[in-house]
Amino acid sequence: MSTSERLIAASEARSAHNYHPLPVVVASAEGAWVTDADGRRYLDMLAGYSALNFGHRNQRLIDAAKAQLDRVTLTSRAFHHDRFGEFCEQLAELCGMEMVLPMNTGAEAVETAVKTARKWGYQVKGVPDGRAKIIVADNNFHGRTTTIVSFSTDPEARADFGPYTPGFEVVPYGDLAALEAAVDDDTVAVLMEPIQGEAGVLVPPAGYLPGVRELTRSRNVLMIADEIQSGLGRTGATFALEHEGVHPDMYVLGKALGGGVVPVSAVVSSREVLGVYRPGEHGSTFGGNPLACAVALEVIAMLRTGEYQQRAKELGEHLHHELGVLVGGGAVREVRGRGLWAGVDIDPAHGSGRELSEKLMGRGVLVKDTHGSTIRIAPPLVVTKEDLDWGLEQLGDVLGG
Ligand code: PLP
Repeated sequence: MSTSERLIAASEARSAHNYHPLPVVVASAEGAWVTDADGRRYLDMLAGYSALNFGHRNQRLIDAAKAQLDRVTLTSRAFHHDRFGEFCEQLAELCGMEMVLPMNTGAEAVETAVKTARKWGYQVKGVPDGRAKIIVADNNFHGRTTTIVSFSTDPEARADFGPYTPGFEVVPYGDLAALEAAVDDDTVAVLMEPIQGEAGVLVPPAGYLPGVRELTRSRNVLMIADEIQSGLGRTGATFALEHEGVHPDMYVLGKALGGGVVPVSAVVSSREVLGVYRPGEHGSTFGGNPLACAVALEVIAMLRTGEYQQRAKELGEHLHHELGVLVGGGAVREVRGRGLWAGVDIDPAHGSGRELSEKLMGRGVLVKDTHGSTIRIAPPLVVTKEDLDWGLEQLGDVLGG
């Protein structure tokens, strides 16, 4: 039995089986590469579902974390700490917003967005008590809490987790007329991913997101952009919505905000919206802690250079060009995405997404399937062109004609 096999057996024996990982045991990592417990190297073309946009153990982020570890790591929000104000100021500025409410995980930030929109609806918009409605899209993925799975359309995510939280209406993603028909006087928000990651990197039709913006503005409804996966450089811009010239009322951020070092998430919005909170109404012991703020401040500084967005744009064009060549030739049916982010639909006759992911793993490339027959590709934005080309060569051999 190899070391990896032994470690996998130990995990399987004692952990809840709420994941089905590829049979690779990562023991160390740097940049776009990981090394397993038996010393084999793999190119990471998933990057923690975009949490590792800046690569594994990015030196700037590790240095920031280490410096903070030597000063103070946690105060709780019972006290102020010296990194908090700066973090909120910098993040608000990056987003073109006014206020920040920090949390830890993506799902917590989405929950915070839901609570905030409801409170805004009652206190500012004047929706009658208990009637606030939030509109979401089908095939959404916003996290795993009971409220969030209540408005999922994925049977696997929902089954046996009821009773479900009311107050949500699901409309088809990309269908503006359906959204318009769903908005009523009690609607407080539309919550959407600008590109649906978990659904298979689905890009909505051109004009849809600007249409959502116009509609929500005209009906006094908050437009909430869940940019947890699409944001912070991945698509070749700081936010995926920028490509559409859209500025939402609220950003929900996570994943890469913590640089793959610590969990950091946040809701970022206007004073009108986040100003609804009073002490005691919402919070989190770890939200906005000094270590999280120190790492996130470095992430924000790195994003300000524009370097990562530019890399994602240029390498993304190359990625999509090369993947486009594979369409129709072998197992590849369709490729979607933007920037350094692609969903590759596989013809099941050539194997399931899982089987092909395992084949790629055998060639030293880590990707992950989603929904059976889509392979998601999202390498760290620091990947070199040479390494990306090597990865594409393996993809071509396994998926091509
Ligand atoms: N929202 C989106 C768009 C996501 O992609 C994810 C995670 O994949 C989440 C929310 C949930 O984030 P977390 O897993 O940190 O709770």
